[in-house]
Amino acid sequence: MNQDMMPTGVNLGIDGPSLLADIAETAAFGGTAKGGICRLALGAEDRQVRDWLGTQAAALGGVLTVDSMGNQFIHLPGSDPALPPLVMGSHLDTQPTGGKYDGIYGVLAGLSALRALQRSGYRMRHPVELVNWTNEEGSRFAPAMMSSGVFTGAFTQAQAYGTQDARGTTFGQALEEIGYRGAEPCGQHPVRAYFELHIEQGPILEKEGITIGAVTGVQAMRWFDLRLSGQEAHAGTTPRAMRRDALLAAAHVMIMIDEIAQSYGADTRATVGVIQVQPGSTNVVPGEVQMSLDLRHPDDDVIAAVEERIRTEAARQAEQQGVTLSMKRIWDSPAVHFDPDCVEMVRRAASLTGQSYRDIVSGAGHDAAYMGHICPTAMIFIPCRDGLSHNEAEHAEAGDIVAGANVLLHAIMAADAHFDPA
Ligand SMILES: [Zn+2]
Repeated sequence: MNQDMMPTGVNLGIDGPSLLADIAETAAFGGTAKGGICRLALGAEDRQVRDWLGTQAAALGGVLTVDSMGNQFIHLPGSDPALPPLVMGSHLDTQPTGGKYDGIYGVLAGLSALRALQRSGYRMRHPVELVNWTNEEGSRFAPAMMSSGVFTGAFTQAQAYGTQDARGTTFGQALEEIGYRGAEPCGQHPVRAYFELHIEQGPILEKEGITIGAVTGVQAMRWFDLRLSGQEAHAGTTPRAMRRDALLAAAHVMIMIDEIAQSYGADTRATVGVIQVQPGSTNVVPGEVQMSLDLRHPDDDVIAAVEERIRTEAARQAEQQGVTLSMKRIWDSPAVHFDPDCVEMVRRAASLTGQSYRDIVSGAGHDAAYMGHICPTAMIFIPCRDGLSHNEAEHAEAGDIVAGANVLLHAIMAADAHFDPA
């Protein structure tokens, strides 16, 4: 590479062994026998890992702020105190049988990037920050991405505080109990741009042997509740022509949904995951069926078109079977398109650090999806073994872990040059 073309700081790199050591060390907070982590939001183990992060912040000379949702921000000053911070982050909570990387990797890699900047003496113009978002998983307190959701105004803090876990403890109580209800009102923290590094949680990068995914957005998701009503009848005496079989109609509808989804290309995901049949008796023609539908596509227009076709075709299928159909949309999460400039910074950071890369759309939700509504945002993915996540066997390769952290560091440095030019 032509040295003259390199921006200042191009030789900066994160300390790979210490990042890997941090991942191993923090995995002990809630570590499971199968090598995973059970670290539910606002539990004792979550407090331990938060305390650990606070200790690291102090060692780094960073200023730690905790907001009223328990989000932790670690701040390193830039050379221009008037500029708002560039923020890296993810989450340290896990699913009950979670892995060592989902979320955790993004926080610890961000920490390694802060350390690299501090150690090198390379001074950014913008302050740079690391955030640990409270309760991304939504496993103990629903919904997922709760605190980035409050931060960006998707729902209120009062709603979040009132949410109860399975034992009736509210989020607000649990936050107080672990001592992480901070003074700064959630949402008032300035953010110039946001970058989140994460394992892919899918199989594409690994399958293609590519190290870095430049995430262009998060696909649109819609959930539906379908109800088919026919008539219960005797299985032995009712001729086929006189049946109004709700389950048979549901079977036709399911096949039709799959055919429609396939006709809209490989990016369309349609899943019927729950089906309930009434009365559920061997010798009774089923009268009622309730089924779920999870529909996803990167494009809002396409998902709308798929929904429309499914509605039309499902009604036709139901009518042919003499069954009535209702199809209710119960959740609508529009597609998120990350900031094109920030995505380009990720591609360039991958190129600069010698990593293979491709554009990719996230199939899962992330805190970055909410952040994308309020500031320029992008995400970076690295491969994970067999695309497996939300599983104790979740695994990422050391080389990819270090590579992704360096891409994060260089993306943040590019953002520093790009935003608020002097
Ligand atoms: Zn995550």
